[in-house]
Amino acid sequence: KAKLQGRNMSLEYAPEMTEAARLRDNLEAELRAALLQDQMHMLYQPIVNAATGKLESLEALIRWHHPKLGLVSPDKFIPIAEESGLILGLGQWIFETVARDCHLLRQTLGPGVRCSINVSRVQLVDSNFSHYVSRNLLSRFPKDQQLTFEITESALIRDSERAADSINALCSQQLAFAIDDFGVGYSSLSSLREFKVSNLKIDKSFISHCTHNASDRTLLNAMIEMAHSLGMTTTAEGIETEEQRALLQELGCDLLQGYLFSRPVTIEEIAAQGWFYPVKQLKVATL
Ligand code: C2E
Ligand code: MG
Ligand code: MG
Ligand code: MG
Repeated sequence: KAKLQGRNMSLEYAPEMTEAARLRDNLEAELRAALLQDQMHMLYQPIVNAATGKLESLEALIRWHHPKLGLVSPDKFIPIAEESGLILGLGQWIFETVARDCHLLRQTLGPGVRCSINVSRVQLVDSNFSHYVSRNLLSRFPKDQQLTFEITESALIRDSERAADSINALCSQQLAFAIDDFGVGYSSLSSLREFKVSNLKIDKSFISHCTHNASDRTLLNAMIEMAHSLGMTTTAEGIETEEQRALLQELGCDLLQGYLFSRPVTIEEIAAQGWFYPVKQLKVATL
């Protein structure tokens, strides 16, 4: 009986599946063309020091302007690029674009602002990755440019041994690693010891309700304390309100990022703002 049901199920869902598969195939083909046709762009979102409001780092975030579909979210096309292996070529394009932008930015801002780049697990566990990064990539950046690779927590769980090898081989004075979207990926906390990671980026789902949800506050507090006791710094992403900013500052979070400070913008816009990004005047948290 179970078998029969299974068969009915698959029949019932077949048209939808092929539709989804067709869409996926199309996107994959168009993704291949997108780089050549100049449809990809990088935007940068400021990450600021929670205590001073100083611009510490810029996270590079890719954008795809599809000629017919308009803006396609990276949450939609990065998984397709990962499954098809296109992420390796796309990843190189991202690295090279960020390196070029970095030189541009220095002409106006000078040194001192870190660059954060999202790296997919497919890239991280690719057998050529450490070689590519150390031999080709780092030399494209200014010598004293500090870089952070952001790897999602879920990426570290799959293939965790290879991921750890790759991270531990690459991390250096110039290159640090951050765990992105921390707290939703169900990694065992003890596994954090295996990775030479210097920053925990707490997932924005913990931030959105933290000012009126006591258990989110408790979790935030625990994550920040745990990171600190392991010698890591913390970043809160998705800060949208002054109340959230003040709370995270009070909890001792080191770095903050979110629409309150700035949406992701072009490198030209960042350069035009100067060294001190016009963050809201920070009140010292009272409690
Ligand atoms: P992520 O690395 O966790 O990036 C944070 C996402 O949150 C970004 O979405 C950013 O625009 C958004 N965000 C920033 N501040 C706020 C806020 O205050 N409120 C809300 N609601 N959202 C905020 P985006 O740019 O759509 O990127 C989505 C995801 O796609 C990224 O998550 C990352 O996993 C992936 N991605 C983006 N660019 C790249 C890339 O160059 N390479 C790779 N491998 N993945 C990328
Ligand atoms: Mg990120
Ligand atoms: Mg994130
Ligand atoms: Mg994310």
